[in-house]
Amino acid sequence: MKRPEIAWIGTGIMGRAMCGRLIEAGYSCTVYNRTREKALPLLDAGARWAETPAEAAENADAVFTIVGFPADVEAVILDPETGVLAAWDPERAENGDGKKKIVVDMTTSRPSLAVRIAQEAEKRGVWALDAPVSGGDVGAKNGTLSIMAGGCREAFDALEPIWKVLGTNVRFQGPAGMGQHTKMVNQILIAGNMLGVCEALRYAKSVGLDPAEVLGSVSTGAAGSWSLSNLAPRILRDDFAPGFKITHFVKDLRIALDEAHSAGLELPGVELAERLYAELMDAGLADSGTQALVKWPVCE
Ligand code: NAP
Repeated sequence: MKRPEIAWIGTGIMGRAMCGRLIEAGYSCTVYNRTREKALPLLDAGARWAETPAEAAENADAVFTIVGFPADVEAVILDPETGVLAAWDPERAENGDGKKKIVVDMTTSRPSLAVRIAQEAEKRGVWALDAPVSGGDVGAKNGTLSIMAGGCREAFDALEPIWKVLGTNVRFQGPAGMGQHTKMVNQILIAGNMLGVCEALRYAKSVGLDPAEVLGSVSTGAAGSWSLSNLAPRILRDDFAPGFKITHFVKDLRIALDEAHSAGLELPGVELAERLYAELMDAGLADSGTQALVKWPVCE
């Protein structure tokens, strides 16, 4: 594929950093976000602004979306007036060098919605990928994300140069929806890990240990993890800014539980994490980072 013209939709914590890397790498980008102010750093860096996702997609070869919730994904890709696919029809499905246009949803969203998007894309003669990510705000800034893709293999291969800018571990997991299922596996792992990290720090403090020294000991042993290395130090600094918002994690845990129940599977650890994080949301911490689990119970 010639160097593709990019549209980027969703310029929050993750999207702003990821699109920023593409601009730095020399890609020409048009951006759209619900709140224009959050796209200003990208506009300053040379991106063009579009008034709707469809306008952003108009002249793009590849459109990337990373918004909040499945309903937002539905709005930005499938809305019949303003969505990405509304800008593309079978007569304009190719990008100029014989390859099809591609829409890539990188939001953590429902596998069934990824399947629906792939079906709608096929009707318009374009390609779709679900490609959620892991690696947090740090990975987005440093281009070290893990990217888990599902959908059309040819589209995945065509985007290789872009994957290299965004991530260091980029894998194709199967047909539409399988990227999202892989991300659910990731979130199930994180659910248990966050419970462990937060309970361990509370224990260390309550028995009179120096938590920073304790972290020095345990983070390089068998208990080491991304959350322990990146989020535990934020807890020690009383830094509860997101990172990864609690409201998004609760969304993910609920998707994982729905999918597990559909498969006849019980996930008691995920159920516990969902309950504790939902309590934090009810206590007003929806937009705090997931490390705020250390504050549970909030009334303590
Ligand atoms: P965020 O900071 O809330 O960013 C989401 C952005 O999407 C916001 O700027 C928001 O606009 C925009 N948006 C939402 N709905 C929209 C719509 N209907 N139309 C246009 N723009 C819309 O969240 P984030 O942390 O970047 O996370 C984005 C997604 O990636 C979530 O699904 C999250 O679960 C997932 N994720 C996050 C992380 C992480 O560590 N942060 C890691 C992996 C995956 P406004 O500016 O108006 O709010």
